[in-house]
Amino acid sequence: MYFERLQSRLWETSSLLLVADGEAVLVDPGIAEAEVAAIRARVEALGARVTHVLATHGDWDHVCGIAAFLEATAAMGPATAERVTGDDGTTGVVEAARRYGVAIAGPPRVDTVLRVGRAHRIGPFTIETMALPGHTPDGVAYRVRALDLLAVGDHLSRVEFPFVTSTASYRATLAGLIDTLRHDPPATVVPGHGPALKAEEALEVAEADLAYLRALRAAVLGAGGDRERARAAALGIEPPRQASADLADMRAANVDRQLAELLPD
Ligand SMILES: [Zn+2]
Repeated sequence: MYFERLQSRLWETSSLLLVADGEAVLVDPGIAEAEVAAIRARVEALGARVTHVLATHGDWDHVCGIAAFLEATAAMGPATAERVTGDDGTTGVVEAARRYGVAIAGPPRVDTVLRVGRAHRIGPFTIETMALPGHTPDGVAYRVRALDLLAVGDHLSRVEFPFVTSTASYRATLAGLIDTLRHDPPATVVPGHGPALKAEEALEVAEADLAYLRALRAAVLGAGGDRERARAAALGIEPPRQASADLADMRAANVDRQLAELLPD
């Protein structure tokens, strides 16, 4: 029984390979066609075949490799399945890949919808699922106790700051992850981007990210309802770490999300 994290050249995106008894489960295999082919080659070198592909959320960089594994069952939570079967997943994924100049296997598909919050038998593994809204509403964590491993999608990254769709959801997700990391820690946390972390390292990231989101909220609330003052104050809050230069706009996007949650237009 074994796992391995592989990494795309784009944004250090994680692909996770779980193997036992000649069967492999992939989480977010990606991104470019050649990188996905290398994942397949690695599975074959280990004497295994891919039985399942899981997705942590429906963003294009996490679902663009599914098409390369026709022989496997593509499984994900219901909200991700909805994204993947809608325009977001079909034309959206292909368009996004083209925008970044990456050749991908094709649009994603869904074979099985997983109930989130339940443990599932997936290939040779028992895999627990946990809802992680925050980065996107459809985020799902996968925990494999037999491998002492937790995959958290686009949270807890050392190479990005939080990219937020709902600051309230993101704070709640971080609070839940902090509880897990303190009281039921896995040996290894695999974020969607950047290196795998030990539980203590993931906890440091989680605390820093939560402090950043609390500071964003405080900045907006401290502006006395004046939207422009609130925006300026929130833009002054430093993210806990850098992200790649092409994603720097996400800092202002986070401010817009926080403004929208607290102040009516
Ligand atoms: Zn991502």
